[in-house]
Amino acid sequence: MSSLPARPAMPRRGFLLGAASVAFLSACPSIARAADAGPAARLKPSDWLELERALQGGRIILPGSKGYPELSVGYNGAYENLRPAGIIWCAGAPDVVAGVNWCRARGIEPKIRSGGHCYAGFSMTDGVMISTGGITQGARVDGDGTVFLPGGLMNGHVYSLLRRHNVALTTGRCTTVGLSGFLLGGGIGFSMRNWGVASDLLLETEVVLADGRKVIATPDGPDGQLFWACTGGSGNNFGVNTAFRLKTMPVSTVTVFQIQWGFAGGKEHAVARALLRDLTTADNKFGSRLSLKARPPGPDNTTVAIDLIGQYVGAPAYVEKLLSGAMRAGRPIKKVIRTMAYWKAQDFLSEDDTLDRFHERSAFVAGSLSDEALDQAYGFLEKFPGRTNGTHADFRFFQTGGKMNKPDRESAFVHRRSDWLMDAGMSWAPAAPVAEIEGCIDWQNAFFERMWREGTGGAFQNFADPALQNPQAAYYGDALDRLKQVKKTYDPGNMFNYAQSIPVAA
Ligand SMILES: Cc1cc2nc3c(=O)[nH]c(=O)nc-3n(C[C@H](O)[C@H](O)[C@H](O)COP(=O)(O)OP(=O)(O)OC[C@H]3O[C@@H](n4cnc5c(N)ncnc54)[C@H](O)[C@@H]3O)c2cc1C
Repeated sequence: MSSLPARPAMPRRGFLLGAASVAFLSACPSIARAADAGPAARLKPSDWLELERALQGGRIILPGSKGYPELSVGYNGAYENLRPAGIIWCAGAPDVVAGVNWCRARGIEPKIRSGGHCYAGFSMTDGVMISTGGITQGARVDGDGTVFLPGGLMNGHVYSLLRRHNVALTTGRCTTVGLSGFLLGGGIGFSMRNWGVASDLLLETEVVLADGRKVIATPDGPDGQLFWACTGGSGNNFGVNTAFRLKTMPVSTVTVFQIQWGFAGGKEHAVARALLRDLTTADNKFGSRLSLKARPPGPDNTTVAIDLIGQYVGAPAYVEKLLSGAMRAGRPIKKVIRTMAYWKAQDFLSEDDTLDRFHERSAFVAGSLSDEALDQAYGFLEKFPGRTNGTHADFRFFQTGGKMNKPDRESAFVHRRSDWLMDAGMSWAPAAPVAEIEGCIDWQNAFFERMWREGTGGAFQNFADPALQNPQAAYYGDALDRLKQVKKTYDPGNMFNYAQSIPVAA
């Protein structure tokens, strides 16, 4: 796969835990623990040697080994203090089988990592990490239009393959997100209103189970319950997914848009109201993400207050018409509406891969957000206490609904009656003083608690939120009891677990 993008190094600002991270972790006690070190701390060199002999192409990466600094960290810098005692870097499913068996024999509960982008650091550990990052060989689009994807691919690898065949899946914007984590949590993107979430396109998945068996789960096969659980039941609950087969969709051209409004006119509130009202009426071929920014200190004429980005499978005139109310409410400072080839359009829509320390809190909403709630949201955004350069907050809306609300089959992704996924996001600069971060966290929690009352009661499992109350109920709703039963069948000893994992049914 030489033409694929290289796995990027993820440089960190330092190995020591920053003061800002301490403030964040103490506000989220559920992940402040260092839970996994126990049995891993007792490992002897002979244990690792035994594992090394069992690997078939993979390798063990210990502190001090080549590659450890890059591979031991995740995307969210808030969890930079969690570094593994050792990484089992797998090159294929046999290595995963060897790693799982080795862990089980020693009472180790490994953390599985693919792209390392979990918002809440759930793939980070101070124990043993099983990385699927080397499982990249054999990706292909077959003659029947399905695609076979090894579990270690990043989204960018998948895009390179699909664009060569002019087909697509529902995909996100960030090329370094791991395919496995993205898919197992449902997987949202601009095409979800047209095709459903990414896991709606899943046809089969290969999984290494806690007992070391490897199975291929299909909807109608003997492991149909496991297949179902993999359509939204999230990673590191049932086993290690080492490959996927999905249905693809043919693509040609698409209209993309990015419209930005500034703070200068002071009209952002009216623009946001028009956008939420009008976009909620859009047809299924339209997908968008709206970001309402917290006011930074001293905005100038170029400071972005509202950023709208998305795609429409159709002519630009439809987009112009849909946005006409917002344009009347406020004059944009940037306006791009352009038709282009589908994959060129995805390049346009892709987001910068900037590493950060961040915390996000999401909730699904049915219908448009009420005017009263939007007024209150602006009340919060105008009072964001972040002052240090590089500390930001915004209130984001991912447009859901359409086909996403009408799946063709049953699914563990239960968020099927929404029009928006809202997300109160906050990121902070490493240099921010602890008191400022604590103020930002309090602000975010108060903001989120108010907005949560507007939601369906669902939160997005791919935007893992360590501060969420009753997280499993919010992520899995009515599917939770069945997911617990699947867990009991496939991982009765709870080998695969983390702070918000699915418990084993009683
Ligand atoms: C910048 C950015 C952009 C994003 N954009 C989108 C988006 O557009 N749409 C969307 O839906 N989500 C998006 N996400 C969220 C992302 O999909 C989830 O965080 C996802 O879980 C990340 O997967 P990963 O493999 O990179 O992360 P990891 O941290 O490696 O894994 C995430 C979880 O899955 C488990 N896991 C990983 N690999 C496997 C495996 N092979 N088998 C079993 N369990 C496994 C891990 O243990 C962990 O619990 C974004 C995240 C970031 C940081």
